[in-house]
Amino acid sequence: MQKTLGYAAHNNHSALVPFSFDRRELGAKDIQIEILFCGVCHSDIHQARNEWASSKYPMVPGHEIIGKVTAIGNAVIGFTVGDRVGVGCLVDSCRICSDCVDDLEQFCNTVTFAYNSADKISGGSTYGGYSAQIVVDHHFVLHVSDKLDPAAAAPLLCAGITTYSPLKHWQVGSGDKVGIVGLGGLGHMGVKFARAMGAQVVLFTTSANKIADAKRLGAHEVVISSDMQAMQQHLSSFDFILNTVAASHNLDSFTALLKRDGTLCLVGVPDHPHPSPAVGNLIYKRRQIAGSLIGGIKETQEMLDFCAEHNIVSDIEIIPIQQINQAYERMLRSDVKYRFVIDLASLNSA
Ligand code: NAP
Ligand code: ZN
Ligand code: ZN
Repeated sequence: MQKTLGYAAHNNHSALVPFSFDRRELGAKDIQIEILFCGVCHSDIHQARNEWASSKYPMVPGHEIIGKVTAIGNAVIGFTVGDRVGVGCLVDSCRICSDCVDDLEQFCNTVTFAYNSADKISGGSTYGGYSAQIVVDHHFVLHVSDKLDPAAAAPLLCAGITTYSPLKHWQVGSGDKVGIVGLGGLGHMGVKFARAMGAQVVLFTTSANKIADAKRLGAHEVVISSDMQAMQQHLSSFDFILNTVAASHNLDSFTALLKRDGTLCLVGVPDHPHPSPAVGNLIYKRRQIAGSLIGGIKETQEMLDFCAEHNIVSDIEIIPIQQINQAYERMLRSDVKYRFVIDLASLNSA
């Protein structure tokens, strides 16, 4: 066992505090990674505060990890000490079920998440990236190009793949009109990807002060979602809408904007259910409401390579780990442009 320093939540209401815990020893197929940066996802807040009613404490959150390989097991291929690598939400799965065989490990019934999951190897709980180092099976470790700024690349490991994957699955491309709902960590990546894939991009926001930013990030048009007149102008015109909002809200004003056979894909996971959709909105034009969960390892590597090719990273604000609790409060006020990233070098400061 290797003593490792991190920051943990100990219950659903107290601040995260320094926490020392054990990482497993390096196994034959494992890679040990010194964590340099870790993004702060809204899922970290949902889980630290037990909003999904599945939290186990102590919990070390963090699943947007960028680091440097410090050791490799003797059965590891394709990595060497010193490589820049990433780890996202997934750290293990069964590898034999149909989801795993199809490179969709996120849907495996026995998937292990980076934190708050039973760790089948150590027997304890998994602890995430708000920490100094991590040991991960090499199948779940991603190569990250040196072309990308390492701090700004960290959010690609969750916010990036969670928006890239549905845009690819629903084959968004040139000639498509695509909506992104919510300009937060996921939403701003959705805008960048949809634009890079050639779509006509409309950003829906509740925050009037984000209009200029949304355009700078790649939106062709920005609509304040509470402005019913502006919403009406887009009725029945979208091929695809990706909804990243972290809170319960009425979906009907978005389903009404879809063309025949259009899809509203939900990736936000609010703690309370959305009010039921108006059935008329769906049956009238055979519209669909769908969901999507992060993405598999193969597609995450594809997304990282796409980012290196198109020079896409997240817009970030770097914080020392001592500011994580203030960062959570600011995220809840939508006061972040557009992802906090923890610099883990700060762990050793007083
Ligand atoms: P975030 O950075 O906090 O952004 C969420 C955005 O939603 C806000 O910036 C805001 O955008 C909008 N919003 C917040 N409260 C709202 C409200 N009451 N009504 C309408 N809009 C509201 O969060 P994130 O990290 O992007 O995560 C978003 C959600 O996705 C979370 O629920 C998270 O758990 C989930 N998630 C899901 C997956 C998956 O695999 N499906 C993966 C990662 C995260 P505007 O100011 O522009 O309105
Ligand atoms: Zn996440
Ligand atoms: Zn499986």
